[in-house]
Amino acid sequence: MTVYSKITQHVVYPLGDAVLRTNVMKYMDALERSQWWSLDELVEMQNTKLRALVAHAYRNVPYYRRVMDERGLSVAEIRTVDDLPRLPVLTKDLVRQNYADLKARGFRRWHPSLETSSGSTGKPLQYYTTMDARSIGWAATFRSWKWAGYRLGDKRVTMAASALLPERPSVAQRLRWFAERNVPLSAVHLTRETMASHARRIEQYRPRFIRGYPTALYLFADYLRSQGRCLQGVKAAFTTAEMLPLSYRRTIENQFGCQVQDQYGCIEGAAKAIECASHQGYHIAAELTKMEMVDSDGKAAGPGKPADILATDLHNYAMPFIRYAVGDRAVLSESRCSCGRGLPVIKSLEGRTTDVIRFDNGVALSGVAITGIFSFCQVKQFQVVQTAGSRLLVKVVKGDGYTQTDTDLYTGLLRSHAGQDVEIAVEYVDDIPTTKAGKHRFVISSPAA
Ligand SMILES: [Zn+2]
Repeated sequence: MTVYSKITQHVVYPLGDAVLRTNVMKYMDALERSQWWSLDELVEMQNTKLRALVAHAYRNVPYYRRVMDERGLSVAEIRTVDDLPRLPVLTKDLVRQNYADLKARGFRRWHPSLETSSGSTGKPLQYYTTMDARSIGWAATFRSWKWAGYRLGDKRVTMAASALLPERPSVAQRLRWFAERNVPLSAVHLTRETMASHARRIEQYRPRFIRGYPTALYLFADYLRSQGRCLQGVKAAFTTAEMLPLSYRRTIENQFGCQVQDQYGCIEGAAKAIECASHQGYHIAAELTKMEMVDSDGKAAGPGKPADILATDLHNYAMPFIRYAVGDRAVLSESRCSCGRGLPVIKSLEGRTTDVIRFDNGVALSGVAITGIFSFCQVKQFQVVQTAGSRLLVKVVKGDGYTQTDTDLYTGLLRSHAGQDVEIAVEYVDDIPTTKAGKHRFVISSPAA
C-alpha cells in the first residue's frame, strides 16, 4: 500500500465522513465482509432492512400509508422481499405527481440530499436521497473498484460529462477530487484537439484507473489507436452510464492495456451491479438494493429472461423508493459467479426499456441486440433511429477500412432480425451529437423519444 493510500484510508476519508456526516468507511468494512456471505444470508439481510423500511414508510410517508391502506395491507404482511409484489410499482410519473407525499415526516433528520437524474431520455427527475444511502452506494462502488486492484487514493481520471462530472463543481466537489487524486476531463465535444490534450494530460499524470462513459473512453482509445499510441500503467478502465458494445470494450482494452470493468447504476432506487474480475456478469450490490426482474405483465421473471428492473433502495428514508421502475432491462443469471461471492449476478444488461424498437410486423429488437450487430463492422459510431413503424435510419461514422461489405453486413443482419419488410436507410455522418448530459444514444425507438 502506498503512503498516500494509507493517508487516504486513515485520514482523508474518516475526516470526510466526519465533515460531511457520511458513513463511507463504516460501510466499506461491512461490505467487504458481506460480499462473501451466502445468498441466503444476503437475502435475510435484505428482509431485515425491508421490514424496517416498510414500517418507516407506513408510519411516516403519506404516499405509502395511502397505497397500503387502499390495498388493505398491513406492515406485518411485508416480511420478505418475496412480498414486495404486493406493493405497487413506483414510476417516474408517480414520483412527480406525489412528490410532496413521498417525503418522510421529519424529513430533515435523514440528512436529505437533492439529486437530479441525468434524464438521457425524457425529462430529468428531481428527488431526494440521504447521506446514508449515498454513503453505502459509494462504499459499494469502492468495493467493486477494489475487485480491479484499486486502493483508496490511487490516481484516477474521469472522462465524462454531467452525470459524473457536474458542469459547475462546488468547492467541496473540487476539494474531494483533489483529495481523491481524481482528475476530471470533459467528455463533451471530444474533438481531435481535445483528445490530444487529454492524452498529454493522462501521459503526464499517469493514472492507475480511468473512469468514464463507454463512448467517451472508446473514442479516446480509437484516437490513441489512430496515433499508434497505447497508455502505460493503467490497471483498469471503469465504464458506466451507457451500454458497452463488445467492440468498444476490445478497443479500450487494447489501447489502455488493461481490463474494462463495466458498471451499472441508477441512484434513484439505488440499483447497482458491477463486474468482478471474472467477468461472468454483474454482481448486484444486494446490501443496498433489492432488484426485482419483472416481465411486461409485471410478473416476476425468472433467470435467463430479459426483464424490466424494479429497484428498492433499502437505505433512503427521506424519500423511499420502493419497487421503482428504473427504465432499464436486464437478464438475471442462472448460475453463480466462479469468484465465490454470494452477491447475485446479472448475466447481461439489455439497455433502456425505451431502446426497444417495436416494428409493425410484431418483432421487437432490444438495444443490446442492435449494438451487437455493429460489433462485427468497421463502424466507428452508429445510431439506429426508428423513423416509422417499419422504417429505420442508421447514422454511421465510418471506421478505418469501412467498405460496402460493412453496409451490407449490418443492414443484412438488421433485416434478418427485424424482418425483410423493414426499410433501412443509411446516412454517413462525421459525428453523432450526444444528449444534454453528454451521453451517447445508440438507439432511438421513435422520433419523439
Ligand atoms: Zn464474481
